[in-house]
Amino acid sequence: MSTEAIQDETIEFQAEARQLLQLMIHSIYSSKDLFLRELISNASDALDKLRLAAYQDKDLEVDTSDLHIDLEIEPEGRSLTVRDNGIGMTRAEVVDLIGTIAKSGTAEMLGKLREARESGGSEQQNAELIGQFGVGFYSSFMVADRVVLVTRKAGAHSGVRWESTGEGTYTVSEFPDAPQGTAVTLHLKPEDTENALQDFARPATVRSIVKRYSDFITWPIRMAADVRDGDAKDGATPPEPQVVNSGKALWSRSQDEVSDEEYAEFYRHVSHDWREPLETIRLSAEGTFEYQALLFLPSQAPMDLFMRDSKRGVQLYVKRVFIMDDCEALIPEYLRFVKGVVDANDLSLNLSREILQQDRQIQLIRKRLVRKVLSTIKSMLADEPEKYATLWSEVGRALKEGLISDHDNQQSILEVCSFATTHSDTAGSGDAGESGGPGDSRDGAARPTTLHEYLERMPEGQDAIYYMTGESRSALENSPHMEAFRAKGYEVLLLTDPVDEVWVDSVPSFEEKSFVSIARGEVDLGGDDVDEDTRKGFDSLLAWMTTTLSDDVKEVRLSHRLTSSAACLVGDPGDLTPTLEKMYRAMGQQVPKVKRILELNAHHGLVTGLRTAQEARPDDQALADTARLLYGMALLAEGGELAEPASFVSLLSRRLESTLS
Ligand code: ADP
Ligand code: MG
Repeated sequence: MSTEAIQDETIEFQAEARQLLQLMIHSIYSSKDLFLRELISNASDALDKLRLAAYQDKDLEVDTSDLHIDLEIEPEGRSLTVRDNGIGMTRAEVVDLIGTIAKSGTAEMLGKLREARESGGSEQQNAELIGQFGVGFYSSFMVADRVVLVTRKAGAHSGVRWESTGEGTYTVSEFPDAPQGTAVTLHLKPEDTENALQDFARPATVRSIVKRYSDFITWPIRMAADVRDGDAKDGATPPEPQVVNSGKALWSRSQDEVSDEEYAEFYRHVSHDWREPLETIRLSAEGTFEYQALLFLPSQAPMDLFMRDSKRGVQLYVKRVFIMDDCEALIPEYLRFVKGVVDANDLSLNLSREILQQDRQIQLIRKRLVRKVLSTIKSMLADEPEKYATLWSEVGRALKEGLISDHDNQQSILEVCSFATTHSDTAGSGDAGESGGPGDSRDGAARPTTLHEYLERMPEGQDAIYYMTGESRSALENSPHMEAFRAKGYEVLLLTDPVDEVWVDSVPSFEEKSFVSIARGEVDLGGDDVDEDTRKGFDSLLAWMTTTLSDDVKEVRLSHRLTSSAACLVGDPGDLTPTLEKMYRAMGQQVPKVKRILELNAHHGLVTGLRTAQEARPDDQALADTARLLYGMALLAEGGELAEPASFVSLLSRRLESTLS
């Protein structure tokens, strides 16, 4: 026994972990009791993993006959232990999983917290951020001033002991006699009801927390009967442990038997999101291929929604046995915000991710899940517009990725999309009275429009769905490209998400109306009064300008889309848009410079004046400067960036100067 302590080691927490721990220790978060939900959730996961490992590895030496979670209270020492006989952890895993946080979004969340604090955000807001993050194991430090974890990995012969007060460092040491699994012992802070610290050393309190948060856990959660509660007999025999949870899988119970609270707690367990789910979806199939699914839509986007390693949220079970988290075979990437469980009856337990991708039954389930999720969103849109609006603003950007990747469901996805448009203010509820001309940016204020609404409003004579992509709503609304459309009263979709740049090229039409960019290709709205002869009169100006500006544009032509501006820039239908070009560059990709087309307004004084001057003085260098200025102005008007702002400014000042002399 004397050599036991040789491997004691004191290790510093990773910086992010340290910050998070500080938040926990000083938390004024009022739901401190959720620490127990987190520990039980971890224990349950550990039991799931062990059962699966035992199925898959027959040589693994473990006893899986009595998998369970024990809650042990020591009222005198004021400690509470959560013990499982699950998969356990190796020393390296303890250091890795408990000493660091690898969760994506950590840095971002800590940044937000700092911001909230600096801008005087309330503690309540901080608490919400913490909750949103999924507090995990560290939540123990809300209620305990010292935590000891003893664990032995399945199949290993010796265990590990971890201990910390949460202040900067922890110690790890070898622990030869650790039982299989993990025990987390909390040395509880004194009761302090003013700060939501109940007496967690009181069995009745603990039992009610388990009932509230963890009843659905399918493993037995056991607890010794409480002497003080009077349910133990007097005498020397220690009270028999009792099972405190009902332990039935929610998805196997009939729908009306499960309460909203139970669904919400289960959602928290699978999603690590602390809020209520926005919508619960049940699904089952009977007959030759049976399965049940219980899915949730979130009320807020998961933190990692747009991170590279973001997880998909559907777990696969086979006959109540947990098989895997994050089952990508079951749900496409664009629905990664959907969380929940699929339990299939007829699959083998020995499944790899690769096999699953090929499995026909899994493919059928996936198809059905996708259709069900989309139809749920569609009914939300029809019956609960507020709910739909929440969902759309949180995860719409992810959903739109499906327009690119899921051709089979493209039209159903389009039906549940909504977009900002030049008319969205008139579509909103209530007062639409304000003038709302160009320059009056209403980002976020107006209710977005569905494509059905767009089609309904479409005036006689319009035969396409017009859109423009770009970086901000106000830049788009004020862009010269809008002029003719505004004059005609045609509505234009204002697409400002990066994903919009891409899907518009893979979706040809909706309800037989094609999508047409107002900034690409030729646009002719028919109301043009420039006759052939007038056009001919511009031929030599256009040819001269095309040559003069050949470094920047591929063509100069007359426009049908301008009413008040002198010029604008457009692309050819297949061309990269400026935003997309910029995005590729930002990602470090080499893209050739995309030349666009400069369109001129044949009615504008600057254009007609330039024609006259150029005819009179074809060799005047100053006129080439004017042509370059026209190009720069067109770029600025659409919110673009000049390649060489300084030389534009010196050109401009030269030209201005000449008007004064
Ligand atoms: P999360 O559960 O969201 O991953 P936690 O902070 O709750 O985050 O836990 C971190 C990790 O520590 C878990 O993912 C798991 O790998 C490991 N872990 C925690 N508790 C246990 C346990 N009782 N048995 C085995 N591993 C555990
Ligand atoms: Mg956890």
